Amino acid sequence: MKNKIKAFLDIVKQRNGEEPEFLQAVEEVAETVIPYIVEHDIYYGKNILLRMVEPERAIMFRVCWVDDDGEIQVNRGYRIQMNSAIGPYKGGLRFHPTVNMSILKFLAFEQVFKNSLTTLPMGGGKGGSDFDPKGKSDNEIMRFCHAFMSELFRHIGSNTDIPAGDIGVGSREIGFLFGMYKKLRNEFTGVLTGKGISWGGSLIRPEATGYGNVYFAQKMLETKNESFKGKTVLVSGSGNVAQYAAEKVLQLGGKVLTLSDSSGYIYDEDGIDAEKLAFIMTLKNVKRGRISEYLERYPEAIFEKGKTPWGVKCDIALPCATQNELNEADAKLLISNGCICVSEGANMPSTKEAIAIFHKAKILFAPGKASNAGGVATSGLEMTQNSLRFNWTREEVDNKLKEIMSDIHKSCLKYGTDKDGYVDYVRGANIAGFVKVADAMLAQGIV
Ligand code: NDP
Repeated sequence: MKNKIKAFLDIVKQRNGEEPEFLQAVEEVAETVIPYIVEHDIYYGKNILLRMVEPERAIMFRVCWVDDDGEIQVNRGYRIQMNSAIGPYKGGLRFHPTVNMSILKFLAFEQVFKNSLTTLPMGGGKGGSDFDPKGKSDNEIMRFCHAFMSELFRHIGSNTDIPAGDIGVGSREIGFLFGMYKKLRNEFTGVLTGKGISWGGSLIRPEATGYGNVYFAQKMLETKNESFKGKTVLVSGSGNVAQYAAEKVLQLGGKVLTLSDSSGYIYDEDGIDAEKLAFIMTLKNVKRGRISEYLERYPEAIFEKGKTPWGVKCDIALPCATQNELNEADAKLLISNGCICVSEGANMPSTKEAIAIFHKAKILFAPGKASNAGGVATSGLEMTQNSLRFNWTREEVDNKLKEIMSDIHKSCLKYGTDKDGYVDYVRGANIAGFVKVADAMLAQGIV
């Protein structure tokens, strides 16, 4: 089996040698899915995984815009249309200086499996730009978003490809992107998700990824007769996913000890309660400040510059910032401090070595493609509401989100339960995601 996996990865490496994040994501899937393919004749010998790692289309384009000083700026825009076997391409846009082909291909590849897991008819895609929104004025953000959409619009559409937000792309950016799309196409359609409530958005979409991650963790904890009540929880990041993960943890009776951003983390021994979280939401979403400013209001807390929070003793860890933010040494620290559950809110925040440590210790570990799928699932619900020209209530959307997270959890149990009862959620999510897409690809022939 090892030889088969190696032979496959050698081909992928040969073609994508300069793309470490993409190779990391493919390797994780190959190690769990190839043994399944070998055992199932309908998939074996059809190069089905080799077809899945090749994007159906990868678009790269120039984005020129003028900054507030009148200088012409040039950025690079991308859209990776990875797989449309089960529905139109769907996946976020990321604006961050680190964005490149490798990062977007890894995200698009993960998205294919994640979208399949949601049970909704969505293919996988991802896009973005190396544009850095930090320190830019609202007018600069608007000009960049308009310039970006003035090319992207010809490649997307409500039945073709429906982008959403990701790192650096929140409701403000979605508004500017939607405005330019509508002007260029002269149509009001659900081409983007994450829209404002008064112009086609869905209730609960902003909360969905963070809430969904906690619902998933709750399901995992239930398998051990545990819950969030009274548990100490580390959250990393302080953006969209982290904020709403923290909010849901508080609602379920947990104690949030940390939040972070790219400059470091804050540790509040007394817990970040609802009032403190509201302060952080204003700080991050309105003032666009740094997490260290928390100490100006709550001086009893600690700020650790340039560090991640994984050394703080906790019961549960929710990495919600970015890829590869939790490494092998961090995983060992979490285990030795008694952590029983890690549920990824971000995409691929744990390195391969960290995941191996979690599996060896047999703690509950959920990969992002399962545990953070609530965001795209609710985007799918936004698309449905747009098509129906109808809005569900907050409670209706939240209940559907809970149901979807529970169904994803069941799929993971189906394909990931070991003989000794331990659940390998990585294997479970990969195989469950694979089966639906592979079946659709086989039915549609070699295209
Ligand atoms: P935001 O832009 O709202 O927040 C990102 C947070 O992560 C910020 O606190 C940011 O800090 C921090 N961060 C970014 N890069 C780094 C880094 N290199 N080191 C440390 N911290 C960093 O993004 P989201 O909350 O939307 O996304 C977070 C993660 O969740 C990403 O992996 C994303 O792909 C994933 N995700 C998001 C979904 C969504 O619906 N939004 C859906 C599914 C997954 P700073 O402000 O300093 O940059």
